[in-house]
Amino acid sequence: MSDWSEEILHRDFRIKLKVDRVLFDSETEHQRLKLFENATFGRVLTLDSVTQTTEGDEFIYHEMMAHLPILAHGRAKRVLVIGGGDGGMAEEVLKHKSVEHVTMVEIDAGVVEFSKQYLPNICKGAFDDPRLNLVIADGAQFVAETQDRFDVAIIDSTDPMGPGEVLFTETFYANVKRCLTEGGIIVTQNGVPFLQGGELTGTMRAFGKLFRDASCYLATIPTYVGGPMAMGWGTDDASLRQLPEEELNKRFMAAGLETRYYTPAVHKAAFALPPYVQELIG
Ligand code: SAM
Repeated sequence: MSDWSEEILHRDFRIKLKVDRVLFDSETEHQRLKLFENATFGRVLTLDSVTQTTEGDEFIYHEMMAHLPILAHGRAKRVLVIGGGDGGMAEEVLKHKSVEHVTMVEIDAGVVEFSKQYLPNICKGAFDDPRLNLVIADGAQFVAETQDRFDVAIIDSTDPMGPGEVLFTETFYANVKRCLTEGGIIVTQNGVPFLQGGELTGTMRAFGKLFRDASCYLATIPTYVGGPMAMGWGTDDASLRQLPEEELNKRFMAAGLETRYYTPAVHKAAFALPPYVQELIG
């Protein structure tokens, strides 16, 4: 008799994913980690019963959080990833040959070790790339103390609960800004606006104080239910969000990326926000 995994993230809205086979289910130092197989989405990773990533749709989220800021920046050599324990974000970032260094700061070593073993289709050897500097630490503490500087910061966090809560604070964002080079870009996982509007509003309020250009872009990831997901955008170089599609095309071709979701046209369209999202970001 197959089992069902119920996600308990939203008050009035729940989803269940069919569990064909449980591969792992145990507590780590920080959270309950469960991995199971689902005929449609492949291997599914949940933390504290919240879907983090699946083999089936991870490409959408990882491509839009990695390629969009790196191609918008145009000269990104040093990239910071906060969270991202499954390795899928680092994998997409490391596809850019022009990127010389990636520091990934993940709080839970269990997620990394586990993903290396059970999610090779997502991390694809990223943890063995010599350009990757993996730091097991709280991302908020890391950005408060590091002397390193980065051109792009990607906050691939859990939702604002448990260890991830601190990654949605103004202090954290201000410290990330401190670590950015001039004209550097921060992008954030900001939930699904229709169900998690307050999360986006909070981040945009902080970005509005910290950055000359603060906005968000959208992409729909099937297992992040409730409509399009918002990704926060902050930089002091307001020209980066206004780049013409032709210029993005040139950069995309030069990077020689093979993608299944990201294109320069999708990039531009992702910043076109419907009024209900515009209202949330003020
Ligand atoms: N894409 C997913 C989402 O949108 O929910 C997130 C995926 S990734 C697995 C999230 C990672 O953030 C987890 O591995 C978790 O351990 C890590 N994390 C949570 N809080 C953290 C913190 N304070 N510092 C660093 N990593 C953290």
